[in-house]
Amino acid sequence: MTDLPAATLAAADFYDTHYAGAEPVFLEPGMKLMLGSSERPRHCRFCDKSEPAVTFRDEAHALPAAFGNTGLFSNYECDACNHLFGEGIENHLGNWTKPMRTLSRIKGRNGVPTIKKPGPDKGWRVEYSGTSFQLQEYEDDPFFEVNEETNQLKFELHRDTYIPVAALKGLVKIGLTLIPDVETQHFRETYDWIRETDHSRNFVSEFPVFRTLIPGPMRNDLIVLMLMRRRAGIDTVPYAFFTFAYGNEVLQVFLPSLSQDRCINNQPLSFPAFPTPGSLDPARYGHPRLTTEHLTGREAVKGEKVSATFGFDTLVHNPAESTEGET
Ligand SMILES: [Zn+2]
Repeated sequence: MTDLPAATLAAADFYDTHYAGAEPVFLEPGMKLMLGSSERPRHCRFCDKSEPAVTFRDEAHALPAAFGNTGLFSNYECDACNHLFGEGIENHLGNWTKPMRTLSRIKGRNGVPTIKKPGPDKGWRVEYSGTSFQLQEYEDDPFFEVNEETNQLKFELHRDTYIPVAALKGLVKIGLTLIPDVETQHFRETYDWIRETDHSRNFVSEFPVFRTLIPGPMRNDLIVLMLMRRRAGIDTVPYAFFTFAYGNEVLQVFLPSLSQDRCINNQPLSFPAFPTPGSLDPARYGHPRLTTEHLTGREAVKGEKVSATFGFDTLVHNPAESTEGET
């Protein structure tokens, strides 16, 4: 452990001092976990209504199936809330994360998402075939920048239209699904905020999302979810954090609680990101890269570009102008 960078050790110490973490949930293929009791009448923690005012017929995914989760469900999300999220904030979160899900080879309901040039004209395409990536470009419209010396491809994917704060709500929603029942009392306003379809409503002023990109061939069928709650007696940091790792990406967001976070109102916040695992082979793939995302915009973002660098072992050019690579 002593060869870890000093910043990683300091961050680990920070979280150890200020937070107690619940056991992380490791989701792997074939697992089926149900959160909450199946006793009747059931209660929905999102809208705070119970049967028979609301129904619980559908299986409610604790996180969207787009992330490859087919096994974690909850008993405390009613059908109305399930549809509301599925048609709203989960789509925004899905659009925001789609380039990363493609590059990480995350299989959703319809397999790994394909990303192609927007618009009606023919154009570039990034598609995963199950064993390798198929990359297509046209001579008159070059898209990939190939460096055969470093075995890297560079390109700019586009992101489907999304509202940043709605994507943020989608992320917070996963955390609010995982928290234990006893904690939900602290998040009543937060539940109301994620259910609010008018995304212009202000909630908390500072809302950074830490995003760590771990380069290299990471598993595409493992999701790790973790909650952390502030230790008793500490009042200088946010009450709760949620960390979500899938493929090459780790997202950390705080779960705001109006009552529990009163002590940090108007305080400048400064805290490190929770330490993430390093890449498998830093000499070959590089070190994890941390960015802070500000998903607070309330207007739809259209045509955003996402830079991607792609390492490959072998590159096969075929006559149809497509290029095959492996991560
Ligand atoms: Zn509900």
